[in-house]
Amino acid sequence: MKSLTPQGALFVVAAPSGAGKSSLTRALLERMDNLYLSVSHTTRNPRPGEIDGREYHFVDDATFVDMVYHEAFLEHAQVFGFKYRYGTSRAAVELHLNKGHDVLLEIDWQGAQQIKSRMPSAQSIFILPPSREELERRLTGRGTDSAEVIAARMDTSENEIKHWHEFDYLVVNDDFDTALDQLATIVTARRSRTTHYAPKIAPLLAKLLPTTDLG
Ligand code: 5GP
Repeated sequence: MKSLTPQGALFVVAAPSGAGKSSLTRALLERMDNLYLSVSHTTRNPRPGEIDGREYHFVDDATFVDMVYHEAFLEHAQVFGFKYRYGTSRAAVELHLNKGHDVLLEIDWQGAQQIKSRMPSAQSIFILPPSREELERRLTGRGTDSAEVIAARMDTSENEIKHWHEFDYLVVNDDFDTALDQLATIVTARRSRTTHYAPKIAPLLAKLLPTTDLG
C-alpha cells in the first residue's frame, strides 16, 4: 500500500512578461483553496507599492550569494533581460509541501528547468500571449517608452517563449476567464491523482475497506 501521508503538489508557472501571468496566478490563488504562492528572494530593489515579504524578499547580493552557498534555494537564476538574481527558498516550499499544502512558483524557464530536474512530480505550466501584436501592445505600456526599450522587452519575451516545449501544459491567455478556467483545471487534475488524493480521503478509504490495512 502506498504511503497515506499527505504531501502537497508543486506547480510552476512561467511566461514572458506581457502574457498576463501575475493577474492569472493572483486570480487562481483566490479561486483555489490550499494553494500558496512562494515568495521569491531577489536582489532587485522594490518597485513602488511592493512590500518586502509580500511580492519578494528583497535581499542584497551578499545575502543572496550566501544563500546559494548554503543551498537555501530550490532553484535560482539570473533572469534574462533582468540584471538581478531571483531564487525560491527551499525551506519555505518544503514547509508547505510537508503540511500537505500545494505551492505555486512564479518563476522563469531556467528555474522551471531546475525544479523539473530536482522534483519531477512538479507540474509546469507555460502561459502564452494570444498573438505577437497583442504581446507588443501589452509591452508598449503607456506609450512613453522608446522603440529601443520596447524592442528589448520583445527580445526578452521571445527568449522566454523559446522554451515553451519544456513545459507540461500550455495556456494561451486570450480570454482571461477561459485561461483561468484552464489553469484551475490543471490544478484540479493534478490534485485528483491517486498518490495525491488518497491521503486526503484516507478516512473514506478506511470506511470502505474496514478489514483492509491501508498502511
Ligand atoms: P520581476 O522583477 O518583474 O518581478 O520578475 C522578473 C522575472 O523574474 C519574471 O520572469 C519572474 O517570473 C522571474 N522570477 C521571479 N521570481 C523568481 C524566482 O524565484 N526564480 C526564478 N528563476 N525566476 C523568478
